[in-house]
Amino acid sequence: MIIVGGGGSGLATAVSAAEHGASVLVLEKQPEPGGTTGMSIGSYTACCTRQQAKAGVVDRVNDHAEDIAKFAAPEVEARDNHELRRFFLRHNAETLHWLMGMGLRFYGPSPEPPNRVPRMHNVVPRSKAYITTLQARARRAGGVILCNASVTELVTTGLRVTGVIANVNGVATEYTARRGVALAHQLLRRKHEVLASLAAGDADVAWRAAAMRPHVPRTGPIPFLVARPGVHPSHACGSCGDPLPHPTRLRCRPCSLAAWRVIHQVREGLAVPVPPSRGRQST
Ligand SMILES: Cc1cc2nc3c(=O)[nH]c(=O)nc-3n(C[C@H](O)[C@H](O)[C@H](O)COP(=O)(O)OP(=O)(O)OC[C@H]3O[C@@H](n4cnc5c(N)ncnc54)[C@H](O)[C@@H]3O)c2cc1C
Repeated sequence: MIIVGGGGSGLATAVSAAEHGASVLVLEKQPEPGGTTGMSIGSYTACCTRQQAKAGVVDRVNDHAEDIAKFAAPEVEARDNHELRRFFLRHNAETLHWLMGMGLRFYGPSPEPPNRVPRMHNVVPRSKAYITTLQARARRAGGVILCNASVTELVTTGLRVTGVIANVNGVATEYTARRGVALAHQLLRRKHEVLASLAAGDADVAWRAAAMRPHVPRTGPIPFLVARPGVHPSHACGSCGDPLPHPTRLRCRPCSLAAWRVIHQVREGLAVPVPPSRGRQST
């Protein structure tokens, strides 16, 4: 089985496939596995987990499904795949326990509004732990992880994808799969959009980020970040008090970007990259 992309989803697929007897090849275009997973905060939001039970938190998949719908603006929510989401929610505790079975440790559950109960489980010490653990486990099960191997084309036979062509250290090489090809990098299509938003240097985001930054601890749970202290009216942004365009949202867009940016900087020690094409975007 060929897996394209050695981030969290690719490596988890590799572990599972190899442990079920498949002969696995992971092709990763970077010099080492990790992807966005390796630079993320590493929080894992799940319901009905062992940690929740231990903390006396009573939770239900249906409640989690209702709460998730409150995170995004209605027009985004309307585009989501609700069936797929329910599938994830039904399996997220099982997947967390599967990761714990490999030795990964999680702090929590911590509150994460608008979730009605604590559901945030943070991997410790940091998100790279997902990568090192999954990588080691995949290799132990016989999986091969090839880096500097950028997949450029899918090879098809009739309607089936039967292989890939990868640029391996500058040489185009064809790999054929008897069982299948798993694309574990599709979400990257949106990554540049996300990073561009993170990098937007506008003043609206900048002052909020400056106000929030001192309140992000280097370890442990992250409190609800506030840009303008005070009691804010309902239907206003919980962080700054500005009116919200969508009453179901908890934070305004500049506060959301500011919170994401400072968490990214303080917890991961990473500078936010500047989008290369800013100002040259096509209309
Ligand atoms: C700053 C930040 C913080 C985040 N924090 C959280 C969080 O706390 N909790 C949470 O749930 N989510 C978080 N996310 C989102 C989460 O990190 C991603 O949704 C998740 O890591 C995606 O995993 P993935 O395996 O799909 O992609 P990735 O981990 O990005 O893996 C994709 C891999 O595919 C490789 N690849 C791409 N193209 C090719 C190609 N052509 N050939 C070969 N390889 C290729 C890439 O190099 C990469 O290694 C965060 C994201 C960011 C940016």
